Order: sequence, then structure tokens, then C-alpha cells
Amino acid sequence: MTYPEQLDTIQWKSKRLTILKRDGYKCQNCLNEKLTSELDKGLFAGYCFPNSKEAIHIDNFGTDNNMRAGIKDGYAQYIHESTVIYSRKVPKWRRMVLGVRKLDSLEKNIFDKYAKKNIELNKEFRRNFNNYEDNTSVITKILEEKENRRIEFTKLNIEKKNSNYEWIFMLGLHIHHKYYINQLFAWEYKDDALITLCETCHRDLHEKQEVQVYNNEYELIGKYKYCSRCHGAGVFPEYSHVDNGICFRCKGIRYEELIN
Ligand SMILES: [Zn+2]
Ligand SMILES: [Zn+2]
Ligand SMILES: [Zn+2]
Repeated sequence: MTYPEQLDTIQWKSKRLTILKRDGYKCQNCLNEKLTSELDKGLFAGYCFPNSKEAIHIDNFGTDNNMRAGIKDGYAQYIHESTVIYSRKVPKWRRMVLGVRKLDSLEKNIFDKYAKKNIELNKEFRRNFNNYEDNTSVITKILEEKENRRIEFTKLNIEKKNSNYEWIFMLGLHIHHKYYINQLFAWEYKDDALITLCETCHRDLHEKQEVQVYNNEYELIGKYKYCSRCHGAGVFPEYSHVDNGICFRCKGIRYEELIN
């Protein structure tokens, strides 16, 4: 079984999930900061359609207020009020949810205040709007208040670092093997041989580091460099339509030293 084939098995997918959960869906090097720096974020703001949970509104408090995003099959159950949604425009989808985390306590305070106060302000707004002519100044004040709360929340979000966020899920994370043992399948390693990394940190590590390869008696066979083209992945999933995406430099062998 080739390495890319191993990564396509149920056994590997289940092992992968175990490690992702253990690491809290966080890159253990950058705590998802590199991953999320390229994504848009905002608050969950309701479903787009009454009978479907596959598309949501996201309130990003920006000019592009209330973005719409689709959710990959099976992930809708993890999205609820008081979550922060990370999304990006992707081919085929207009915008897709890639990660979800809980609000931290600071955010939650403001969010509760914001959400609660917002409901009151909306009620007051409707009440006064019936008499728009007489209540113009009240309405202006309400709108100002709403805007202030929005700014308060946005500011907090911009200033904060990612470190202690509690992630519900994050797509696109990699599992790195710290060493290899010949004849062991990818999923047969002990959990402590595996670690969650984002794509950027994973690639950086493979570019810099050699990997130790052991035989079945745990004797070091050698230190190998990862293939310079696929950086040890052996495969390019986005090119799966061409030769199953297998790297043409190493043919899925993954190490420079073993390419013949
Ligand atoms: Zn990272
Ligand atoms: Zn790796
Ligand atoms: Zn390669």
C-alpha cells in the first residue's frame, strides 16, 4: 500500500481524528494563527433558509455585513449562537465555513451585552419608528448606540491573539509523524509520535528537518530529506484528477534519498 493510499483509509482517518481532538483542532506550533490570518471571521448570525442548516449568515461587523457561507456536510451541528466563524471564498463554493470556535469569556461578556441590548434597541426602534417624524432624535440615538456596541466588539476581536481559543473544529490541519518506522502503517504509530500542524508550519518543518527512519527493531536506518517537490506528502490532493495526484518527482516515495 502506498503512503497516499494509507492516508485514504478509514483507519488513518480515525487516527487523525483522535489526534485532532487531543490537540484541540489547533496547530501545535502557531495555535492556528497562520491558518486564520488568511480567513475572514465573524459571528454566527442565523441560518439563510428556514428549513436548512447548510448555509449561514456571518456578521463580520464590516462593510460586507452579513456574509453568507456554506457548511460542509456533517459540520452544521457544531455551529451555534456565540460561536466565531472563520470562512473563505473557495472555488465552486461562494464562501465556505472552514473553522468554528467558541467565544472566550471576554468576548462572551460583550456579546451577551451586545446581543441583549441589541434586542432591546430593535424593539425600541420599531416602537419609535411608527412615529418617525416625532421621534427622529430617539431613533438616531438608538442607531448610534447599536453602532457603538458593534465597534466595541470589533476592537476586541482585532486586538486579541489566538492563543487560548477553544476550537470546535478547523478544516485543513495536517498530522505530522515525528519519525517513521519501516513497515508500520501510518495509523499504527503511538499517539505521541503524531502532532497537529497547520499546512504552513508543516511545510516549513519538512523543508528544514530531516526525518529519522527506523526498522522494526527500532534501529535507526537513516535520516532522510523529504522530497523537494511535495515536501514528503507524496501526493497533491488538489491534483487528484492527474495520476491520483501522486507527486511526479518521488512517485509517492516521499524521501529524496529513496528516489531512483
Ligand atoms: Zn501553524
Ligand atoms: Zn510531516
Ligand atoms: Zn514528492
